[in-house]
Amino acid sequence: MTIDVQPIADLGPDDRVAFFERDAGIEGVRDDVSEIVDRVQTEGDVAVREFTSEFDDVEVGNLEITDECARAYEDIDDEIRTAIETAAANVREFHEAQLPEDWQREFDTGRELGRRFRPLERIGVYVPGGSAAYPSSAIMGVVPAVVAGVGHVAVVTPPADDPNPVTLAAIHAAGADAVYSVGGAQAIAGLAYGTETISRVQKIVGPGNKWVTAAKAEVRGDVEIDFLAGPSEVVVVADETADPELVAAELLAQAEHDPNASVVAVTDDEATADAIVAAVDERVPARERADVIRAALTNETSGVLHARSMSEAILFTEEYAPEHLSIIAEDDESLLERIDSAGSVFLGPNTPVAAGDYASGTNHVLPTNGGARVTGGLSVETFLRSTTVQRLSGEGLAELGETITTLADAEGLEAHAESVRTRLGERTDSER
Ligand code: NAD
Repeated sequence: MTIDVQPIADLGPDDRVAFFERDAGIEGVRDDVSEIVDRVQTEGDVAVREFTSEFDDVEVGNLEITDECARAYEDIDDEIRTAIETAAANVREFHEAQLPEDWQREFDTGRELGRRFRPLERIGVYVPGGSAAYPSSAIMGVVPAVVAGVGHVAVVTPPADDPNPVTLAAIHAAGADAVYSVGGAQAIAGLAYGTETISRVQKIVGPGNKWVTAAKAEVRGDVEIDFLAGPSEVVVVADETADPELVAAELLAQAEHDPNASVVAVTDDEATADAIVAAVDERVPARERADVIRAALTNETSGVLHARSMSEAILFTEEYAPEHLSIIAEDDESLLERIDSAGSVFLGPNTPVAAGDYASGTNHVLPTNGGARVTGGLSVETFLRSTTVQRLSGEGLAELGETITTLADAEGLEAHAESVRTRLGERTDSER
């Protein structure tokens, strides 16, 4: 058996820590990653090439492969090009709908306030590609940046002796300005600090395995990052109306990403729980990536959980804060009302997580390891900065004057108060 049924009521403190404070192996590689990042920061391309040889087993020629991506786009099968363009169009449409408008308005007479949004100038997108190819992540990372109006979008993606042409074509179709053949922690360090070939960026976004994610945590502070988007996770909330085969299919789909993936089904119906386990066991051997799936299913962060009620199932899910949440239950909308912490939610039996992974239009770069408690996934806002603007009339300042000067005096910041009094024609005692 690859996965067991566990009653939530029987989870001990260690089980709860494993589920709710999961780290997908990231902490365990922090020291190694720190060394890689330091070496790239001090030695540039030489270190990038050395680590690429060590971890990807590839001796890269040109680190920059922007033109190869354009050629791959031209050469790719029409069917694949159409699929890339359809997915990119849906992602573009959904993200264009997120573009905020600049605004400025009068709140009280003479007190006009507003907010304006401007794109970042230089962005780096990590497109994974170690054990699987991720053309979809190229679309998810680059298209929203282009929609936001980012001036320069650089992409890094792991090299291969025989690079995946679909990934290269998708990077081009999404609109990247420069593409570099480097993956892992060395790619993140290259974007963060710059090398002879790779230009430094203002912000790094995108998903990756534990080394990539640990590297993003390492460089955070020296460069902005989106959030930690590590090995994939899904929680499927199911009631007795759910088809156990569909639940099992969802678990296997996310499990095939990475041995460090976390996949959980939670149901209030014992028979459904047993049927999910049976369906998982039956389906695993036929999957092409059965080894990766088995490894993910046996993680202590994966399991089929039996809740005493749907309320208990929802409480567990809320505490788990999954990257993906699938709800296959009669009353899915009212269950959703009780969820605040999930990266992306998939409602009903006809909405596989794969729809959002590839083509429905929502973004698949999402926070893992409980990050959904404090942030959402990649969006147009990820690539924007905001500035507030204000203008007071004489009347507006007079109306606010006493409030400002009282607070400034209370803070002991007399010059602040004075900057207001001067405008209002008032003089302090010492100046009279
Ligand atoms: P990857 O590009 O993330 O990682 C490959 C790189 O890992 C290689 O280039 C190599 O340099 C580095 N590496 C491999 N072994 C190493 C070692 N021993 N030491 C140091 N570095 C090493 O590709 P992947 O491995 O296929 O993983 C993709 C990941 O992205 C999966 O975990 C998947 O679940 C995740 N993902 C997450 C999201 C999200 O939004 N959270 C979305 C899509 C994919």
